[in-house]
Amino acid sequence: MPFKPAVADRLAPFGTTIFAEMTRLAMEHGAVNLAQGFPDFDGPELAKQAAIEAIRAGRNQYARMPGDPVLNAAIARKWRRDSGLEVNPDAHVTVTSGCTEAIPAAILGLVNPGERVVLFEPYYDSYRACVSMAGAIPEFITLRPSSSDEGPFTFDPDQLRAAMRGRPKAIILNTPHNPTGKVFSREELALVASLCVEHDVIAITDEVYSELVYNPALPHVSLATMPGMADRTVTLNSLGKSFSLTGWKIGWAIASEPLTRAVRAAHQFLTFATCTPMQLGAARILTEGDAYVRELVASYTIKRDFLAAALRDLGLKVHVPDGSYFIMADHSSLGMGDDVEFCRRLTREVKVAAIPPSVFYDDPSNGRSLARFAFCKQDRTLRQAVDRLQALRHRRA
Ligand code: GLN
Repeated sequence: MPFKPAVADRLAPFGTTIFAEMTRLAMEHGAVNLAQGFPDFDGPELAKQAAIEAIRAGRNQYARMPGDPVLNAAIARKWRRDSGLEVNPDAHVTVTSGCTEAIPAAILGLVNPGERVVLFEPYYDSYRACVSMAGAIPEFITLRPSSSDEGPFTFDPDQLRAAMRGRPKAIILNTPHNPTGKVFSREELALVASLCVEHDVIAITDEVYSELVYNPALPHVSLATMPGMADRTVTLNSLGKSFSLTGWKIGWAIASEPLTRAVRAAHQFLTFATCTPMQLGAARILTEGDAYVRELVASYTIKRDFLAAALRDLGLKVHVPDGSYFIMADHSSLGMGDDVEFCRRLTREVKVAAIPPSVFYDDPSNGRSLARFAFCKQDRTLRQAVDRLQALRHRRA
């Protein structure tokens, strides 16, 4: 008997994630990896020391299911300071294994099979897969690049209004946004909030790039702080991007008690608890890491400007990001095919890897002219990438 296909229908359409695929291709071709978003430099000594101390002190058994009390308290303190919202560390905060675990914990915990979930596209791939794992139905709001200039991505408010009129169970909102670098404005968030309240929709917000914002006119705003949203929002965040510790996989969900019960209903069966000594390292850096974040944002601002200028110089249209550590650029003037072809050729021939974003759209044609470049890299890595990209110079129209 031949084997039946091994991958279940709910996951078969998604294949291998583009991040793993492009990092593999980058390694195979010795390419500079501006594809997968991870820093190629180390995180802060303070965090590492605290985690090492915890291991040596014998903190090596299961943590409490909703998080080590020390970390829950540190997250609650930071959330109070940043959002101004009151929060009980034990009742409202759940520590997860990275935000990537908090996403299925929230979706599986809250959404029934057959219910609808609204997503902004391009979306981080795991939202779409988790909606499918929950047996739910995705509905898409498209963020489109401004055509006339290099400005931010925007959405059609009427498309959002129409989607919310259908009373979905939840909406997933990611700000600052991966892959576009968009920071949702207060006005845009006010519209989302008023529609959530009007149609009784739960919001799940992924705010892992909340610290990485570069435009003083467009600060990060948590949807939970908008009128009527504190009790209907699950706010997700993590340590990885703010403190250059993506491999630690420490994330969290902050929500009202009823929503937290739902998140924990799933979290307890997904991973049960999160790595104990890393939680203690995380608590230290969340408490004492403000200076680290300030310096990181200053250095990312310079890196963003350096890479944006280099891409523009090669004839690409650059959508300068207000947040995150990604740049989306339109490569069509180079005439090197669609995004998948362009990124493959860039990796193989130019030896610089980028992410083809069409996989983040329901209709891939919306992403064909774009490529995503990560700038969370050492200056010398970015310089090497830019040197190699000069090979494209002769292609400029
Ligand atoms: N969040 C990172 C990115 O968007 C990496 C994600 C991953 O490797 N799964 O590139």
